[in-house]
Amino acid sequence: MSKASREFNVPDALANLYDFANTLDLRHFTHYGVQHQQAEELADPAALGEWLRQRGLIDRGAVPTQRTFEAALQLRGAVRDYLKSDLAERRRKASVIAPLNKAMEPFALRVAAIGKDGFGLIPLQADAQAGLSAIVAELYNAAAAGTLDRLKMCAADECQRVFFDRSKPGTRRWCQSTLCGNREKTRTYRERHKHESGSET
Ligand SMILES: [Zn+2]
Repeated sequence: MSKASREFNVPDALANLYDFANTLDLRHFTHYGVQHQQAEELADPAALGEWLRQRGLIDRGAVPTQRTFEAALQLRGAVRDYLKSDLAERRRKASVIAPLNKAMEPFALRVAAIGKDGFGLIPLQADAQAGLSAIVAELYNAAAAGTLDRLKMCAADECQRVFFDRSKPGTRRWCQSTLCGNREKTRTYRERHKHESGSET
């Protein structure tokens, strides 16, 4: 669980998944005159290892191999594409589903009795790969609990941050309506206005 997941009230059960999807920060809007800097938290295998360790997802000594690192980036890309898709696409569109299945393949899980919570999925491996398998398990658990549908990507092109939709109907499109939503509405208005005044001349 990270500071961001707590700040935005993301349920603990999918906090690692939320953080993982947001390790790539593509935001490039200007807010109060300050340009947001884009960032990549997983720049190399060592950075991935540190990220997983901070969340207690791998043992101290475990270091991801180059291969695991590449598989992690594949997984993140496929997860982000999946979360970017609307709910109907997630259930039907092969170009969303197939790449995610392929990206999840290296991360084996098994069923285990886990005490007071009954049974759960736990990573089959014990190496650095296990940390990413734990994230795949969160994906499965969230889908089973019905909360995955509320994990979405902000519809603003200059944001694309993954957020957890806490609205009652679950139909939010922007991570923050007051920022991303307003920016887009203002732009749509301006474009329409420009178009209308352009067609008059
Ligand atoms: Zn946004």
